[in-house]
Amino acid sequence: MIHFEQVSKIYPGGQKALSEVNFRLHQGEMAFLTGHSGAGKSTLLKLITVIERASAGKVSINGHDIAKLGKKHVPYLRRNIGMIFQNHHLLMDKSVFDNVALPLVIEGFSHGEIRKRVAGALDMVGLYGKERHLPVMLSGGEQQRVGIARAIVNKPPLLLADEPTGNLDPKLSMDILRLFETFHDAGTSVLIATHDLGLIARMKYRTLTLRQGKMLGGDEIYTTDTQG
Ligand code: ADP
Ligand code: ADP
Repeated sequence: MIHFEQVSKIYPGGQKALSEVNFRLHQGEMAFLTGHSGAGKSTLLKLITVIERASAGKVSINGHDIAKLGKKHVPYLRRNIGMIFQNHHLLMDKSVFDNVALPLVIEGFSHGEIRKRVAGALDMVGLYGKERHLPVMLSGGEQQRVGIARAIVNKPPLLLADEPTGNLDPKLSMDILRLFETFHDAGTSVLIATHDLGLIARMKYRTLTLRQGKMLGGDEIYTTDTQG
């Protein structure tokens, strides 16, 4: 699903964020991406969503070299990736329904289809019946679930999360990870960037570790969970 070969990223200011990174995320796999603040986790995710471009090496998604992806095709790629952020990036003056519906509205789905899919997504994240609430009326954990519902509402084959539990207590963090697990169980590929090692240790998934832009172990580290 994702393949990095000797990928480096140097920002325009000269800051080296990634250095000859090699790894694969297999179809249907769930894995963690960890490392200290500044290790390059966000940069790695931004290369997958083509928010940033690699300075060297090759990033492939589903066998396609994304350096060869024209500007016109970037939105199409992003539609196939659900992105979840620490601060969930919700529109605070819009209802839960409108927030979750946004990707479907952009894609031009019909009213009826949007209602059905939003209800389904909210059901999956445990927020059924909160369509008309504004995000401010919800707890931090619930707001994060709205962000997750929005990310999964168009059923992308790949979910990327950048510190999705950063603002949550351990119990709520675990609930959120269990939620990712349900998507993984349904066949979605999931990559979760987090520096919360305690959380990672409680789950059985492969962990990719970045240290100052270098991937430790890289392709050699496998656990029992390497499907595909
Ligand atoms: P992490 O997500 O692990 O905290 P980042 O990918 O955000 O790491 O950052 C990796 C390195 O790249 C850091 O040194 C950071 O300061 C630098 N960096 C990140 N984004 C930019 C940018 N847009 N311009 C310049 N340097 C950046
Ligand atoms: P968050 O923790 O919410 O991901 P960050 O503070 O890491 O936010 O980064 C905010 C934005 O600033 C990101 O788009 C990142 O790429 C950029 N950024 C991070 N470090 C640097 C840097 N050293 N120079 C320029 N931009 C940076």
